Parts: sequence; C-alpha cells; structure tokens
Amino acid sequence: MQIQVPLILSLFALLRNLLYKMTLKHFKRSEFTCKCGCGETVISDELLQSLDKAREFAKIPFVISSGYRCKNHPESKKNPTSSHIKGLAVDIKCEGSNTRAIMMDALVFADFERFGLHESFIHVDIDVYDKPSPVIWLY
Ligand SMILES: [Zn+2]
Ligand SMILES: [Zn+2]
Repeated sequence: MQIQVPLILSLFALLRNLLYKMTLKHFKRSEFTCKCGCGETVISDELLQSLDKAREFAKIPFVISSGYRCKNHPESKKNPTSSHIKGLAVDIKCEGSNTRAIMMDALVFADFERFGLHESFIHVDIDVYDKPSPVIWLY
C-alpha cells in the first residue's frame, strides 16, 4: 500500500487547526472577520495563539477593532501592502496611557516585535519575513 503523503499532511494541518481553535481561551475567530461585509476570516493561527497568550498575561479585555481585511475592504485600497490583508495583523482598541502600557507589556511578553501605536488602538502583526522588526511606529 502506498502512503498518501499529501493526504496525511493535509489531515495533520486540519487537526492542528482544530487544536488551535480549541485552545483559544479569550477569542472567537469571528472577532477577526473582515468588516467590509464579505464575512471572510483569513487569520493566522500563530497570530491568534500569541494574542491569546498576551491577553492571558494582561488580564484586561482585548477588543479587536480590525482583524482580517480582504482586498475589497476600503482600508486595503488605501494600504495595499497591509499585513491585515495577509491575515497577519490585528488592531486592538486601546485608549489611555495605563491600558497602553499594560497591553504593550503583555504583547512584548508574547514575543510580538512589530507595533503601530495610534491614540485609539495598538496595531500588532507577525509579518516579520516581509517587513522589518523590531519596530514601533506612530500613526
Ligand atoms: Zn471583506
Ligand atoms: Zn493594523
């Protein structure tokens, strides 16, 4: 009997994805759905795991203001190289200096290396193969 390597690999990927979904303690995948109305959620499991780890450490709510953005999302047209389009980025609602410090501490603890600070949110992404790191930019 011939071993079907691609089949085994895809089964393994499926099981791994199921496991990731089951082990998310603080988030639902629907929180990362594109807000253009398309209903699609293309989001990195690695990103979700790191975010869950940061949220656990921070012990305060993480409200996702933007997760996945498809190509038709208005923001994607303004910024076609955005890591949100790759499902590698999230914006976490964040207002206030104390909340910002707690979230940044937790995100660094969870090994994030790319941050964008806006007065009303923190952008984090894991697009480290295509983009420089470590970086913190300001909007
Ligand atoms: Zn969309
Ligand atoms: Zn962002």
